[in-house]
Amino acid sequence: MADAQSYVGRFAPSPTGPLHLGSLYTALASFLDARARRGLWLLRIDDIDTPRNVPGAVGSILKTLEAYGLQWDGAVYYESQHLDDYEQALARLQHEGLLYPCVCSRKRLAELPGRHDIYPGLCRNRIAIPAGQPYALRARSDDRDIVFEDRLQGLICQNLAAEHGDFILKRKEGIVSYQLACVIDDHLQGITHVVRGLDLVDSTPRQIFLQQLLGLPTPSYLHVPIIIDSHGYKLSKQTLAEAVTLRNAPAVMFKLLELLRQKPPVELKQASCPELLDWGVRNWDPLPLNKTRSVQPG
Ligand code: GLU
Repeated sequence: MADAQSYVGRFAPSPTGPLHLGSLYTALASFLDARARRGLWLLRIDDIDTPRNVPGAVGSILKTLEAYGLQWDGAVYYESQHLDDYEQALARLQHEGLLYPCVCSRKRLAELPGRHDIYPGLCRNRIAIPAGQPYALRARSDDRDIVFEDRLQGLICQNLAAEHGDFILKRKEGIVSYQLACVIDDHLQGITHVVRGLDLVDSTPRQIFLQQLLGLPTPSYLHVPIIIDSHGYKLSKQTLAEAVTLRNAPAVMFKLLELLRQKPPVELKQASCPELLDWGVRNWDPLPLNKTRSVQPG
């Protein structure tokens, strides 16, 4: 049985809209995992990508979590209040020669042959950037294999150079990338256990790589399946997933526990959210989700 110091988990939604079933599913999984280990469960608002922020989304997310009884510990952490911390990390990486400026436009990269998700290193050895030209900052990836054991998905191995090439840490318009912000935030919040959706598993090796460059500890990772709709698409704002209802929270919570393969007993069908959560925490076992990549509400 862990205690608060040895388990610090988090839920880190982006305020791009209200929570939909898929995001609440992830929130519930990370909450149950933390509480089952008597750990802390922190809330972080990933609001660094300002053009994507939607007014009112933060209020709606907090209200939804509260309505479902997913009460977080301590104050809400906002990425927008940590811009200096990201800059410090960038300065350190730059000082160590691990970053370089890149002027390539998306258009230019799209015109090149080959895979467009692997940066071909055009600016890697560039000596100087023409004055006044905006540039992004890229991390020099290397040929090392990043290997980690996901608690559900098993051993994952990725070669960054082969799968991503040098990747962006700060965009041309001055916005720090999700990869860097996430690594710094997880460190500043003292996160020991990351429980999040499988859609982010491809980011984890880049985040571990950055932790290694910055000398930061690597948390344990558990990537839960994603919820897909009847067409097989991930529920997301792009596929216009509906906001979760606040009116019928216990019924939704029951369904989510089933989708987490927790087999809540039928007697709990009339139970309240606190009762369902209490049962969920006492009985939490993520293993039935082993190697599952997606689940579909019936
Ligand atoms: N903010 C990210 C999202 O909403 C999640 C980040 C994370 O859990 O690392 O998809």
